[in-house]
Amino acid sequence: MTRHDAPPPTRGCRDAPVLKQRGQHEVFCGLTGIIWLHRKMQDAFFLVVGSRTCAHLLQSAAGVMIFAEPRFGTAILEETDLAGLKDAQEELEREVERLLARRPDIRQLFLVGSCPSEVIKLDLARAAERLTLRHAPKVRVLNYSGSGIETTFTEGEDACLASMVPALPKTNERQLMLVGALPDVVEDQALDLLAQMGIDKVSVLPARHADDPVAVGPNTVFALTQPFLGGTHAALERRGARHVPAPLPFGEEGTTAWLAALAQEFGVERARFDAVTDAPRARARRAVKQAAETLAGKTVFFFPDSQLEIPLARFLTRECGMQALEVGTPYLHKAILGPDLDLLAEGPQIAEGQDVDLQLERCRAARPDLTVCGLGLANPLEAEGLTTKWAIELVFTPVHFYEQAGDLAGLFSRPLRRRAALHLEAA
Ligand code: SF4
Repeated sequence: MTRHDAPPPTRGCRDAPVLKQRGQHEVFCGLTGIIWLHRKMQDAFFLVVGSRTCAHLLQSAAGVMIFAEPRFGTAILEETDLAGLKDAQEELEREVERLLARRPDIRQLFLVGSCPSEVIKLDLARAAERLTLRHAPKVRVLNYSGSGIETTFTEGEDACLASMVPALPKTNERQLMLVGALPDVVEDQALDLLAQMGIDKVSVLPARHADDPVAVGPNTVFALTQPFLGGTHAALERRGARHVPAPLPFGEEGTTAWLAALAQEFGVERARFDAVTDAPRARARRAVKQAAETLAGKTVFFFPDSQLEIPLARFLTRECGMQALEVGTPYLHKAILGPDLDLLAEGPQIAEGQDVDLQLERCRAARPDLTVCGLGLANPLEAEGLTTKWAIELVFTPVHFYEQAGDLAGLFSRPLRRRAALHLEAA
C-alpha cells in the first residue's frame, strides 16, 4: 500500500553492524517527560518523590511561571529521610492524603520515583497499591520511575504508559489503540485521517481524561506514534494486544507508510486510502521541499538522546536529501524501529548506547554540517564551530503527521540558515 517516489534502498540498516557503547552518557532523566505528560492527561497529577534537584529540573524544564494550580509537584526527601531517621513511607502517604483532600480534580495520581527515592529503596509500588485501595474508584494511584539511574529522557513517558497498561479494563472488541502522547491538535489530525478511512474504533493511550474509555484485549491492535515506547509495547503484548509494525509517522513518507500499515490491517480499499491521503501528502511534500533546499547535500550526526534518531535520520536522508554519518540511539528496539531501519540506506554508523568522549571524537573527526544532540553538548560543540540542533526540541514541538512535516524539516534547516547568516554578517 505504501507509495513513495523514492523506492526503498536495496540494503537498509536493519542488519547493519551496530556499535554498542556502554560508557558515560549525557542525557536528561525520565522526569522530563512529566512536562508533556501533564499537559496531555488533564486530570492527572505527577508527584515526584525526590530531592530539590528534581524539583529544580522540573521547574526549569517547564520553563514557565505557574499561575494556576499546577499538575505536578515534588515531595522533597530531606536528609533525615535519606538517613532513614524518619519513616519516609508514612510521610509520603500522609502527603498524598493532604494533596487529594485539597485537589478533588485529581483522578489519576502518579508517584514518580527518582534517584534519591531509589537509593533509599522507597517502595512506591506498595504506596500506590495502598492509596488506590483507599481512594478507588475516584482516584487511581500508579507509580513509575523517572530516575536518572534507570531512565533517560523519553523513557519517562514509556515507564508512565507501561504503568497504566495492567490497570486497563479488558475488552474483546476489535479495535485500534494509538500509543504515545501527542499534542491534542496533532492527535485529532491522526484520528480524523483514520476516521476518513473508516477506522473509527480507536482509543488513545494516554487518554486525555481518566474516564475516557481505554481497554485492551486479544482483538486490540496497536500502533505506536513514538519510537521510545519499548516497555509499553511489551506490556500491551502481555495483555494480548498485537503491534502493527510500521515506520514512525514523521514526514510525508513515514506518515503515509504508517497509515498504509493500518489501512492494510483494517482492509481499507486502495482508492479510499488515496482519496484520503492524496491532498495532505501533496501539502506535506510542498512544505518539506521548501525547508529541504537548505538541507540537501548536508551531513548530519546524531548523538543518542530522544530515541527519535533513527526515524528522523530516515526522514532527513530520504525526504530532505541529507547524508547521515552516524545515528546514535540510546536503545535499539528492532521490533519498533525495524521498518525505519529498512528504509534508511546502508552507510551511516548505527550506534546504541553512549560513550560520550569517544563519540565526541568521532563527531569532531567527521565535522558534520549538523549535529543533533542534547543541551549539554550543544554549547561546547557550537563553540568549536559545529552547527547543532537540540534534540529536546523534537519532543516539545508538534512534528508528527502530514501537517507538521514542513515544521519538522524546518527544525533542522533553521540552525543551518542561522549559521550561514552569521557567516555572511562576519564576512
Ligand atoms: Fe537528578 Fe535523579 Fe532527580 Fe533526575 S531523578 S533530577 S537525575 S536526582
